[in-house]
Amino acid sequence: MSNDDQRSQERARLLEEQGQINDELTHLREFLQAEVDVEPDEGDSEVFEREKNAALIAVLERRLVDIETALKSMDKGDYGICQRCGKPIEPERLEVKPDATMCVSCQQEVERLGRRNRPQRQIEW
Ligand SMILES: [Zn+2]
Repeated sequence: MSNDDQRSQERARLLEEQGQINDELTHLREFLQAEVDVEPDEGDSEVFEREKNAALIAVLERRLVDIETALKSMDKGDYGICQRCGKPIEPERLEVKPDATMCVSCQQEVERLGRRNRPQRQIEW
């Protein structure tokens, strides 16, 4: 399989995930906006459900931003390439973090240096 094929597969996968996340977000937001008649007994679990959903929305929104970033860097042609050493970023890493701009070893290196120079702030490229 050529690199281009791989890229377009990656893109298709991200676009599909993006669609799924959008659907799920719509669903979750509807749930949160819905007026609910809460039985006194069910109050706690209802509140818990809503908090859980709000947390899930935050996670999904962050994932969506990651995916958009990844799609943009695909357009620029630097997707999946480590900005630090220029080697391909591990596919497993891209799956978890599609907007990764560094390979694992560079990321670790940068984080190690960052911790030494600027405590607790992760370097954003
Ligand atoms: Zn690297």
